[in-house]
Amino acid sequence: MRGLEKRPEPKGSGRAPASYHARPMVGNPGRAGPRREPPGSAWEATVTAAATGVTPSTQVQYLSGVGPRRAELLAKLGVASVEGLLRHYPRDYLDARRITTVRGLVPGQLATVVGRVVAARVRRKPGRVDYLARVEDDSGAVSVTWFGQGFLSRTLGLGDLVALSGAPPPAHPIELVNPSFEVLGDEERELLHAGRIIPVHPLTAGLTAKLMRRLVHTALELVGDQIEDPLPGALRAERDLEALSAALRAVHFPEDDAALARARRRLAYEELFLVQALLAARRARRETAASGFVTAATSERARALVQALPFRLTRAQKRAMKEILDDQRAPRPMHRLLVGDVGSGKTLVGLVACVHAAEAGYQSALMAPTEILAEQHHRTVERFAAPAGLRVALLTGRLPAAERRRLAAALAAGEVDLAIGTHALIQEPVGFARLGLVVVDEQHRFGVRQRAVLAGKGGTPDVLVMSATPIPRTLALACFGDLDVSVLDELPPGRGKLRTRVTDESKRERVYEFLAAELAAGRQVYVVLPVIEESEKADLRAATVTHDALSKHPLLKRWRWGLLHGRLKGDARQATMADFVAGKVRGLVSTTVVEVGVDVPNATVMLVEQAERFGLAQLHQLRGRVGRGEHASTCILMPGPSVGPEAQERLRVLAATQDGFELAEADLKARGPGELWGTLQTGLPRFRIAELGRDAALLEWAHQDARAVVQGDPAFERPEHGPLRRAIRNRFKEETLWSPTG
Ligand code: ADP
Ligand code: MG
Repeated sequence: MRGLEKRPEPKGSGRAPASYHARPMVGNPGRAGPRREPPGSAWEATVTAAATGVTPSTQVQYLSGVGPRRAELLAKLGVASVEGLLRHYPRDYLDARRITTVRGLVPGQLATVVGRVVAARVRRKPGRVDYLARVEDDSGAVSVTWFGQGFLSRTLGLGDLVALSGAPPPAHPIELVNPSFEVLGDEERELLHAGRIIPVHPLTAGLTAKLMRRLVHTALELVGDQIEDPLPGALRAERDLEALSAALRAVHFPEDDAALARARRRLAYEELFLVQALLAARRARRETAASGFVTAATSERARALVQALPFRLTRAQKRAMKEILDDQRAPRPMHRLLVGDVGSGKTLVGLVACVHAAEAGYQSALMAPTEILAEQHHRTVERFAAPAGLRVALLTGRLPAAERRRLAAALAAGEVDLAIGTHALIQEPVGFARLGLVVVDEQHRFGVRQRAVLAGKGGTPDVLVMSATPIPRTLALACFGDLDVSVLDELPPGRGKLRTRVTDESKRERVYEFLAAELAAGRQVYVVLPVIEESEKADLRAATVTHDALSKHPLLKRWRWGLLHGRLKGDARQATMADFVAGKVRGLVSTTVVEVGVDVPNATVMLVEQAERFGLAQLHQLRGRVGRGEHASTCILMPGPSVGPEAQERLRVLAATQDGFELAEADLKARGPGELWGTLQTGLPRFRIAELGRDAALLEWAHQDARAVVQGDPAFERPEHGPLRRAIRNRFKEETLWSPTG
């Protein structure tokens, strides 16, 4: 390889293995004695594809050296075929290109030395067997320990010439622990495990890093040039992306950083492009397929509803309503995402769409992720929809069976205009007479799949999905490249100020004094605690304990406190929530069930306990529960005692920013799409190499390019799009939802 500084001269060899100076190829001319890892061991041999009959789609099991047991282990990693091996990209790389002498080793610095094994032995310890060796070159000797790898005695022994890549531990310049190594054989071959940029592939118990590298390397040799490139040639040229075969080779065994970066870019683009092509094709199909419902141009009832409101619409609401009504009037089915920060007034926008549909004679379904939210929507709708004469039914999971049957019959008879409910609306055989519009609230809780199931109910209804998750544009493209987007980027006026404070345990009494003052002024407060599955019992106990402590606290016991958590029976939850909404319960201790959507404008304090255990997006949602009325509000973040500096910083960022979109961008930049992505990706395929934080620009390209390709060839029928069509089918075949035809 380029950039080697030193030429190690292995002792006792007739000549130096010169070839690995220029490239990671080595020969070992001077070596004597039996080899323990003959390159002739079946899977290592350099065989040609023609000779073996191996093709990209051959099952790994039939690759020589794999067999059923290893195939099972590989399957755990999602590797089924030989091509799958090539698509099993490294998760990291070790740069062991610095070749030095034993004397040149520096503690803590990764480097490669080449020398002879002058001593080697197995050391038995209780519970493990180690392998110890001394490796010598002209400058000195290094002691090497492989903990728990006694089996290496079979591959590395006295007299072997070996390349070792590792970093000596602090203060021990001539020791190496568990270095990656490669025995240098007689024949010229590429170094895979040492002296290069070493790929680190995802592994599973029973598969070693070396075996994985060998397998990937064999796969590259056999079929690396035969994988069909899904990217149309024209696109590759335009975006200056290298050929697939070159990228596959370079991503696994890069020659240098530049080659690796080029390969990554090309492969990440490909991955994003496939998803975008699929989404674009779906969108195109929807628009040409069975036409949607056409509604009248005017919307008298919608107008009546708006005029009767006790407030004026924001400009953003008006704009979104217009976009939505235009979609409803058009013959193609609407597929629109309405994004708006918490409190921006999305419900009303969705409701107006329902009223408009009703006026045209169509039914609507409004779905929320929780019963609490469904009930709240029901209350809101009851409050606003009366002037529009909307017939509304609330269908939740805990309706008595008879009542449920009655409502279902009314729905089926077309006597209900708007059905409000949770997932139950789609999970059970609820029949609509004329379903024309589906509104899905807090979309990220729903998942792409459910969205599609519902949209599949009865004809091709218009679909409006609403989300308060501040989705940066990049993520919106990745998840919803098939949707149109409306944004509510404005909060209704007249809201009180909202401050965010980070505090700590030492100020707890002061915090309680503050709660008492707000309660005394007639306001209401939330106290929220985290609950996660792993510690659910303890977390629920903590919520109960907190509730008891607050209800007995001398400053706070004058007011009624309620307790809300996911383990309560629906009726109890409903009753508590109703009491809080009515102002009878003044303080609400709750787990995150209040996270999304809950709207009680009189609540002015959100105290979050163990705040560091929540993610930024979640905290932002919680904060959005206050500051919804005319009074000034406060969100208090109380971290637990063991909060770390990173979490502190996160809380500080939250306190400094009100804007959910800004926060999401900050979060995306700081930590990658982890949490946010996690909540959004339900139903989306996992990316193998693309990272939405880093690859935002590539995603944008992929989105544009996919739409351009689909515009000219909506079903990828042109010959030059054959590879693309096949790649999409293969990649997404298990997810019927994603199939371009299904
Ligand atoms: P979100 O977008 O978070 O779902 P909601 O739809 O729950 O927000 O609305 C939050 C609150 O704002 C509700 O009480 C709603 O009635 C009220 N609201 C909606 N639009 C306006 C407006 N234009 N002016 C004042 N209040 C509004
Ligand atoms: Mg809402």
